[in-house]
Amino acid sequence: MLNIILFGPPGAGKGTQSEMLKKEHKLIHLSTGDLLRAERSAQTDLGKKAEFFINQGKLVPDEVVIGMIEHQLEAHEEAQGFIFDGFPRTKEQARALDEMLKRHQTQVSGMIELKVDQIELVERLLLRGATSGRADDTEDVIAKRIREYEDKTKPVADYYREQQKHFAVDGVGEVEEIARRINQVVEEMKR
Ligand code: AMP
Repeated sequence: MLNIILFGPPGAGKGTQSEMLKKEHKLIHLSTGDLLRAERSAQTDLGKKAEFFINQGKLVPDEVVIGMIEHQLEAHEEAQGFIFDGFPRTKEQARALDEMLKRHQTQVSGMIELKVDQIELVERLLLRGATSGRADDTEDVIAKRIREYEDKTKPVADYYREQQKHFAVDGVGEVEEIARRINQVVEEMKR
């Protein structure tokens, strides 16, 4: 199985690149942000709980997102692999992912970190906010999301670095060019 973590700060292009990668390698795209927004739209208990954190630019509690991923892994037993987009965002989530994949007789193939500088990130998110209608793409919430990333999520890269599973890719440029860079890394992972 090919299990790829697409990693990077909010606005790095994880969603866009996941869509390209999933077609190329026939993988299931799991975005915890998308899953949480779907729960919120459906007004489930989980969705209502998550909304409180999302609107403040805070991370949703680990057990909530871990449970969602567990459910998705079970729902796709036939998958050739997964792209994890926006997950894991804490070391606790990373450890849980390792355990879950182990139970499914598989493992993380590698983490690909999209590198984008902060000024470009904020510009991208504000631009997206103008059309996405996402309430968390406003200036003050963006700042909080970036802070959460720096404090809690960035250390997750070290977790995979220690396992020699971390790869960095320049996330600035044309979408197709970035996709090509990612594909080169994926080919390396498959070897
Ligand atoms: P995203 O669409 O990935 O930018 O996620 C939007 C929001 O959903 C984040 O700001 C968090 O509030 C929440 N979220 C998404 N994924 C996670 C995760 N793995 N852990 C905790 N919160 C998450």
